[in-house]
Amino acid sequence: MMLKPLKSMGKAEEAVIIGGGLLGLNMAEVFSEKGLKAHILQRGSRLSPQMFDFEVSNFIKSKLEEKNVEVNFNEELIEIKGKNGAVSEVETSKGRRISCQLLIVAIGVTPAIKFLKETEVKTDKGVLTNEYMETSVQSVYAAGDVAQVYNSIKNQYLTYTSWASALEQGEIAGFNIVNQNKKSYLGVPLNTEFIFGIPVTSIGSPNPPDESKYKFLIKNELDKGLYLKLVLDNKKIIGGLLVGKTEKADLIKELIKQQVNITGYEEDLLEEKFEEILKEKEGRN
Ligand SMILES: Cc1cc2nc3c(=O)[nH]c(=O)nc-3n(C[C@H](O)[C@H](O)[C@H](O)COP(=O)(O)OP(=O)(O)OC[C@H]3O[C@@H](n4cnc5c(N)ncnc54)[C@H](O)[C@@H]3O)c2cc1C
Repeated sequence: MMLKPLKSMGKAEEAVIIGGGLLGLNMAEVFSEKGLKAHILQRGSRLSPQMFDFEVSNFIKSKLEEKNVEVNFNEELIEIKGKNGAVSEVETSKGRRISCQLLIVAIGVTPAIKFLKETEVKTDKGVLTNEYMETSVQSVYAAGDVAQVYNSIKNQYLTYTSWASALEQGEIAGFNIVNQNKKSYLGVPLNTEFIFGIPVTSIGSPNPPDESKYKFLIKNELDKGLYLKLVLDNKKIIGGLLVGKTEKADLIKELIKQQVNITGYEEDLLEEKFEEILKEKEGRN
């Protein structure tokens, strides 16, 4: 399967990538390094919207453009045209034609759950589970990309699509299958992506849908390649977004997981004294 694109990559000069999520950005980086002109078509006006906010998206866009990658927002694929059995150009929703010898579709993953439709296992986008990873049918568990897990902080069923989450959920499901005292999964996704060597890490919910309900602590030094954003829901952190310096992401994840009351610590948070806050809170308990 991989041979064909690799073979045609040698001759290709232009590539179109549908989807500006993490995989699309990874492909753009590879093409740029191989000297191809890459065009990303992204639905909406933000790259990797589950991770990036507009500030970070614009920063990454400018880095991509420096490397011969064109980012086109609010533009989608309408038609693929071919010549001699190979792709030759695409037509976009803005009526543009872009010539290309390679086309990559990176628009996300959909769980293969059709076979469950006629069963009593409840599904939505994925297989619905409680916080113990158990489905609506007793003794039937789900974990990983296919699972849509109840999150008690958000009061919602959420999917977590990363290796780390799949491993953690698998361990919890396995534990609960063989133990009476069940462990619950409080999913705090943590994803790190490197784009042209720049690390970007998102933790928890960095971009909650209704911004007016939350407070944001932001240290924007993107002119130096650095960004720190924390999302506060009342007295607790629910999300974070880091660019450039991401080593302390695990500590932010811990603050979220432990639902630490951060009242009075806003300055310390902006100074990245996460470890000190955790230690002080642990000392008090
Ligand atoms: C291209 C790509 C790159 C990625 N890169 C990263 C990364 O850098 N970091 C990261 O954290 N995550 C990454 N991910 C996400 C990560 O791979 C997944 O979150 C993780 O693999 C989920 O594990 P899983 O066991 O739930 O599913 P999978 O790893 O997808 O395994 C599911 C398995 O079940 C099989 N299967 C499906 N349906 C059935 C059925 N009905 N009966 C039997 N078997 C079935 C499938 O064939 C597959 O082998 C990436 C994903 C993709 C697609």
